[in-house]
Amino acid sequence: MLLFDKFENRYIIKGVITNLNPIHIGAGGSSFNPLEVDNRIVRYASTNEPYIPGSSLKGVLRSFIEQVYPKEHCWVTIESCCKKKENEIKNIKDEYSKKPDEYAKKVYSLLCDICKVFGSQETASKIYISDLRVREENGKKLYKLGVRDGVGIDRDTGTAANRVKYDFEVIEPGAQFDLYMVFENLEDEYVKSFLIPIVEVLKSGELKIGGKTSRGLGRIMLTEKVDIYRITKDNIKDYLEKGLNGIKSLSWSDFKKQFE
Ligand SMILES: [Zn+2]
Repeated sequence: MLLFDKFENRYIIKGVITNLNPIHIGAGGSSFNPLEVDNRIVRYASTNEPYIPGSSLKGVLRSFIEQVYPKEHCWVTIESCCKKKENEIKNIKDEYSKKPDEYAKKVYSLLCDICKVFGSQETASKIYISDLRVREENGKKLYKLGVRDGVGIDRDTGTAANRVKYDFEVIEPGAQFDLYMVFENLEDEYVKSFLIPIVEVLKSGELKIGGKTSRGLGRIMLTEKVDIYRITKDNIKDYLEKGLNGIKSLSWSDFKKQFE
């Protein structure tokens, strides 16, 4: 059982994500400026640059994992294991109110594997994904924006008969984003059952992110080379002194071989 009370390991995965279809990750709310598109994508307020929120990618990865391990019966958006074990967790809370370390261990052992890795209402997540910023090459940002027409569904009839037209903004295919994903204190069994399948599915180009995925939007793919850094007690000193420059990265195939 690896909790967060002491450092055991950290895996850092770096790569480049590109979108194979247009992506629309909505910013929510509509603009009051009549010259602007109704449904804008998320951007940084300071630079106006689009990005993919790390939390969006994490949500997509969790849904993927929930489908891979349906026997866990833990669907965070419908019924998570914490919800089902609410009473048990409450009893542990009462019993160990003065021993937070014991409490954390007891609750951790109750949770399903998915919640152990992705976190739950009761425990921290072992996965952290930075917001994916657009890449820059020779001073040029590697993305283009576009606008698509949408057709709204008539709320009364449930059909598109009345054709309520609206626009929505997209990031055009072929944009490039930096991926920086961290797994913290991950048990070896979870490297096999979570980390490896997650990177593989990202490489496959099968995952979709954002809105309107049923209309064929949102496919993303981890491209080019993937670098993976494994930080343990053996090299933590170099990492703390020199950052990632202080340790050697592994290629994806070499890394996988270690866990075969
Ligand atoms: Zn769960």
